[in-house]
Amino acid sequence: MVLRIVIGLVLTAAAAVVAARRLRWLYRLGRTGQPAPERIEAVREHPARDAETQASEVFGQRKLLKWSVPGVAHFLTFWGFIILLLTIIEAYGDLFSRTFAIPGIGHWAWVGFLEDLFAVGVLVGIATFTVIRLRNSPEREGRESRFSGSHTGAAWLVLFLIFLVIATLLIYRGAQINTGVFPYAHGAFASQIVGHWLHPLGTGVNSVLEVVFILAQLAVILGFGVFVTYSKHLHIAIAPLNVLFSRRPNGLGALQPMRSGGKVLDFEEADPDTDIFGRGKIEDFTWKGMLDMATCTECGRCQSQCPAWATGKPLSPKMLILDLRDHAFAKAPYLLAGTDEAREKLPDAVKAEAGRPIVGDSSVNGVIDPDVLWSCTNCGACVEECPVDIEHIDHISDLRRHQVLIESAFPTEASSMLKNLENKGDPWGMGEARRLEWAEGLDFEVPVVDGPIGDDVEYLFWVGCAGALEDRARKTTRAIAELLHTAGVSFAVLGPAETCTGDPARRIGNEFVFSMLAQQNVETLNEAGARKIVASCPHCFNTLANEYPQLGGNYEVIHHTQLLARLVEEGKLTPVTPVEEKITYHDPCFLGRHNRIFTAPREIMEQVPGVRAQEMHRCKERGFCCGAGGARMWMEERIGKRINTERIDEALGTNPDTISTGCPYCLVMLGDAVSAKKSSGEAKDSLEVVDVAQLLARSVRTPVPADGSGAGGTRSEPEPG
Ligand code: SF4
Ligand code: SF4
Repeated sequence: MVLRIVIGLVLTAAAAVVAARRLRWLYRLGRTGQPAPERIEAVREHPARDAETQASEVFGQRKLLKWSVPGVAHFLTFWGFIILLLTIIEAYGDLFSRTFAIPGIGHWAWVGFLEDLFAVGVLVGIATFTVIRLRNSPEREGRESRFSGSHTGAAWLVLFLIFLVIATLLIYRGAQINTGVFPYAHGAFASQIVGHWLHPLGTGVNSVLEVVFILAQLAVILGFGVFVTYSKHLHIAIAPLNVLFSRRPNGLGALQPMRSGGKVLDFEEADPDTDIFGRGKIEDFTWKGMLDMATCTECGRCQSQCPAWATGKPLSPKMLILDLRDHAFAKAPYLLAGTDEAREKLPDAVKAEAGRPIVGDSSVNGVIDPDVLWSCTNCGACVEECPVDIEHIDHISDLRRHQVLIESAFPTEASSMLKNLENKGDPWGMGEARRLEWAEGLDFEVPVVDGPIGDDVEYLFWVGCAGALEDRARKTTRAIAELLHTAGVSFAVLGPAETCTGDPARRIGNEFVFSMLAQQNVETLNEAGARKIVASCPHCFNTLANEYPQLGGNYEVIHHTQLLARLVEEGKLTPVTPVEEKITYHDPCFLGRHNRIFTAPREIMEQVPGVRAQEMHRCKERGFCCGAGGARMWMEERIGKRINTERIDEALGTNPDTISTGCPYCLVMLGDAVSAKKSSGEAKDSLEVVDVAQLLARSVRTPVPADGSGAGGTRSEPEPG
């Protein structure tokens, strides 16, 4: 008895010391990150919301369950470990008394049943994980495997350790049944089965097994606990914290303002020598950024959904986080050394790690390759999928900000876009004078805001640069204007006073140009007294609705598909002319994933008579990017398959007559891919890419009589002015 107590306590003390040292080291490393007071403030301000998030995401495993089979397996394992905390108490109690039972509940049959039920559940869970890992192994699937690049050896070891936890548990409980000290008379069905198997060995052997396997159970649990602190399974302990301090509702939508030392950076007062501009080294990340890195479970869900990775580019959101984490851990002795003298004494390998540029190609041994950094379309698929709420886009944007603002290192082809934004207020450099050309030839006048917006104007129509200046997008703009006019909705536009919202500048990392444009627009909008804005571009929508509040611009912003769907529902627009076509709808990332507008465009399509809607496999939350976001529209796509081609290949799989969407960027990207497919004979000549507003406009118009007479068909498909 004394010996087993001594062994049990010595094992516990040794494991506690090793784990505590590691956790202290991790904590100190996290403290080398920048402050993030806004995260703590948000938790203080919204305790009820955060409690609900913990309940749904941590205890309810909401995001994990989106992947049904691995989700259920994880659910069983997670809850198994929660319930089996009772058995750990019992194992420690058994060290001191063979007849130990948890006070109050230790003899209730249902407790024994529950423990065994979840023990079996964990076995089912790890068996499922084993099959998944074998079927989806990088050796079998190569780059397609979501585990490609993950530390698979550690994952197998953990599965084996979990198996040992359950195996030792059931063996010592089975032996206890045979020695007559098991606390549960009924209910513990799995333990009883094992007890039945062990029964022929006799009471003496079972007494030995009981002691040996109680100690083995504790040793495995303690070993597992220590291993967790040194592996990706650290997420068991810190994922709830990461979820707690993550942005709500998620890391999508708005980009965060640039912060230095925990404060929002003011460009007029910022000093490049003392302030932090984006992330130029690992210690420029906040403690929350470091927590993200340490929490990654290496599950590869993000990687499996990333359009860049799917089309052969070097960017994997998982590998980006892991590379940052590995670098942070390798540089940790340098960061924690405290003094220059102590740093001098560090091994050369640590000093070399400390000297690695955070972004740089193989010639300079950079942590993140520039091709990785600039491949991101900001589509948000990674953030959407991540079960532990890692904020990939924020990290990518912060890395880009440093490269653009301090290093002036970004794809050169994007520099004309930035110059045009600065000098002309739009990415093409066409200038304010051409912002109303789209309205030429309309048979009604489009009011232009000149001074405060009157009470008779319900909506300010934010046309956007593409909507005003790009030929294909102008058709959408005209269709929206016509539909609003037909429905009797009073609206006005800013015309020459509108400039780019700044989205492409912000997404490429040029926060300076973004602030300049955004401040100008907020000033214009506030002076005009804008309250309700309808935007046709999801990127403008996202910036106006989610980012301008950071600069004092607070408006009620609606996307044109939402407004049009409502007008149809209210009977103010009546689609009458059949559009006898099979149509597949492409979800724009900044409308769908970033802003959760999935149903309005589909509702419009449903209301158009004759339309046969056919979803692509990757749709709604899992929609696949067109390749334009994250300022990728303004960069060359030199590596791998083009993302727009991949998307169109998927669309062609539905054999559509038309592809619809709700974004001018998507319209252009998908239109280009369709043109290429037509040239190569892979798509029929009649295949079109249209905005749902164009589709609705076609149906709302009265059909032209066959002889061309009469009052019907007063408007033909609008052409750009
Ligand atoms: S935002 Fe999209 S493109 Fe960028 S890393 Fe995430 S999934 Fe990949
Ligand atoms: S970042 Fe999130 S989704 Fe990607 S591997 Fe890590 S835990 Fe999984």
